Amino acid sequence: MTKTIKVKDKEFAVSIPAEQLQKEVCRVAQEINRDYAGRQPVFLAVLNGSFIFAADLLREITLPCEISFVKLASYQGVNTTGEIREVIGLNTDITGRPVIVVEDIVDTGLTMAHMLDTLKSQNPASVDICALLLKPGKLQVSLDVRYCCMQIPNDFIVGYGLDYDGFGRNTKDIYTLIPENGEK
Ligand code: 5GP
Repeated sequence: MTKTIKVKDKEFAVSIPAEQLQKEVCRVAQEINRDYAGRQPVFLAVLNGSFIFAADLLREITLPCEISFVKLASYQGVNTTGEIREVIGLNTDITGRPVIVVEDIVDTGLTMAHMLDTLKSQNPASVDICALLLKPGKLQVSLDVRYCCMQIPNDFIVGYGLDYDGFGRNTKDIYTLIPENGEK
């Protein structure tokens, strides 16, 4: 029987078990270890959603490296796309450094596209994106997600750091929203 959980008012069914997550996180860490051999990357983990992924990923990285945590603050921009999220808390000098952005999930890709623009203005040596999850069906911008643990369908998910209205981050597995009658 499929394991389900209730987060606030919604029911979710397990979709990515912890063992599978760990396996994919190790695979991606090994790719980074190989590709970045001889370099000392700065990992920039985007809070809040990436905190568990970043912790698991970093423990598999065998390179000399640093990690710093940034947040995206929402404010209403003046352009037509509505919300722009400003990068805050970046107090590591990334000038001339290879940067790896650690993100929980890339959906439309707008958040990461804006983040890349912000980081590039500080002249890093390079910037790569490392995402736990990617929803290719939702991508609205051309974005090179160099490292990705898994691609998933367009459904809403929680767990392993990802929340529903602040709750549900504290699970080892990832869960997908069970649509209510008529809802998708
Ligand atoms: P994007 O700018 O790519 O559309 O949005 C990315 C952000 O949206 C992620 O960092 C995450 O905070 C949120 N997000 C997108 N899809 C989901 C989802 O299925 N579950 C949760 N909990 N957050 C999501």
